Amino acid sequence: MGPETQTQVPLRVFFFPLMSPGHMIPMIDVAKLFARHGAATTIITTPANEPFARPSIDRANSSSPPLPHSINLLLLPFPSSVHHLLSSGHENLSTVPSSSDYPNLFTAIFSLSTPFHHLLHSHHPDCLVSDSIFPWTAAISADLNIPRLIFHGPGIFSLCINDNLDLHDAYGQATTFTIQDIPHNIQMNRWEVPPTFNLPSLVHMLRDAEDKSYGVVVNSFYELEPAYAELYRRKPGRRAWYLGPVSLCNESADEKAMRGLAETGHEELMAWLDTKPAGSVVYVSFGSICELSGDQVEEIAAGLEISGCCFVWVVRDKGPSTPEGFEERVEGRGVVVRGWAPQVVLLGHVAVGGFVTHCGWNSVLEGISAGLPVVTWPLTYEQFVNEKLVNEVLGIGVRARRDGQDPTVVIGREEVAGAVRRLMDGGDEAEERRGKAREYGRMARTAMEEGGSSRVDLDRLIDELSQRRGVGGEEKGEVISH
Ligand code: UDP
Repeated sequence: MGPETQTQVPLRVFFFPLMSPGHMIPMIDVAKLFARHGAATTIITTPANEPFARPSIDRANSSSPPLPHSINLLLLPFPSSVHHLLSSGHENLSTVPSSSDYPNLFTAIFSLSTPFHHLLHSHHPDCLVSDSIFPWTAAISADLNIPRLIFHGPGIFSLCINDNLDLHDAYGQATTFTIQDIPHNIQMNRWEVPPTFNLPSLVHMLRDAEDKSYGVVVNSFYELEPAYAELYRRKPGRRAWYLGPVSLCNESADEKAMRGLAETGHEELMAWLDTKPAGSVVYVSFGSICELSGDQVEEIAAGLEISGCCFVWVVRDKGPSTPEGFEERVEGRGVVVRGWAPQVVLLGHVAVGGFVTHCGWNSVLEGISAGLPVVTWPLTYEQFVNEKLVNEVLGIGVRARRDGQDPTVVIGREEVAGAVRRLMDGGDEAEERRGKAREYGRMARTAMEEGGSSRVDLDRLIDELSQRRGVGGEEKGEVISH
């Protein structure tokens, strides 16, 4: 292909995220980053997931200056043979009735492999970015000679710990152990091991899929976890690009609010925050899929009440409701948001000075990007590992739970209030945490700016994929539109 043609034909990249807000939102942000570089990007999901993707894509497509190529959305219907596995429209980890439905959802997603193969075959993009939890996409893209990039939800520290747990066969049956050969002294309890390690065949499939893939993209930035960024790249044959924090690609309040479900009607909340002093409000959220017991919700409510702090607490609409009379009692000091909150907008409000988080990786990184210290309250998956990064490596957190305490134990109101006060008070320890968090927030923004580490990684990746297409890959100039 001559240079002229190469500039005219955009790099065509398909993105296939796990159907869950914690994976769809950051992957759409990555697609936006590629699109701003001139790539023709397409997000693939299923029909009931359109509401999680459409607002963000439409907002990006109407941006000024306009994107060189609009971001496309391609909807792959589930084959009718699996309809009995899913209640109607429940095609997302956050919308299935409970976590016990996840195996059915994963079986249904796996049934997409044949239609997905046909789709890739007919469009033949220059690159596929697919979720790490879809290892079966590696064989499909290898068969079609399309380079596959793995998108990892968690950060680099967590990925290094996973490598280590894999290498040491999750340290046998020991109830507690020290992670060997990493830059920090990290202890781990058995229940903190991500559940993937209970499924050796899945671990094997993930390893095999990585061997077949072109490389790995991670939503993190070098300066946040430099020793682990080096360690992770040291594995022979592995190539990794650190592109985050990808949420920072959303600059205007409008763009930030359009991520995910983009529910409207938060003007009153924003106006209320405008009346609060800088750094005086704590934002409390347990993400989009975690389930809290009724007892735990009651203790959180009581804890926030006795902490005396101002707060915004996001409560999932599917979960237990807050105790009777609670919202009246805290009126003027606390607001409960039911359902979906514009998290990144709220974290960026000057009145918000701290974040109580379940340590989902996006939330951790969004808190860091906003320069906020956090109360760490992990519940499942790799959240326990993220907690260790926040507290033991970065030093910007306060634990909600005593170290070594079983996560099934309900955290009492006094502990909740104590953790929130420690986070929000003005003592030396709190100031030190706040100062560190602010510094990481500054580094995060620098990483995403022109010349910053994540921007440089993105430029290199796109250049490399474009070169590869010119030399050995397929030349297909068609840009689809849906
Ligand atoms: N999120 C949001 N509003 C909500 C709940 C979640 O904007 O009410 C977003 C949040 O900003 C993050 C993602 O959903 O980008 C959740 O991902 P995370 O990894 O933090 O947790 P998960 O939901 O996967 O447990």
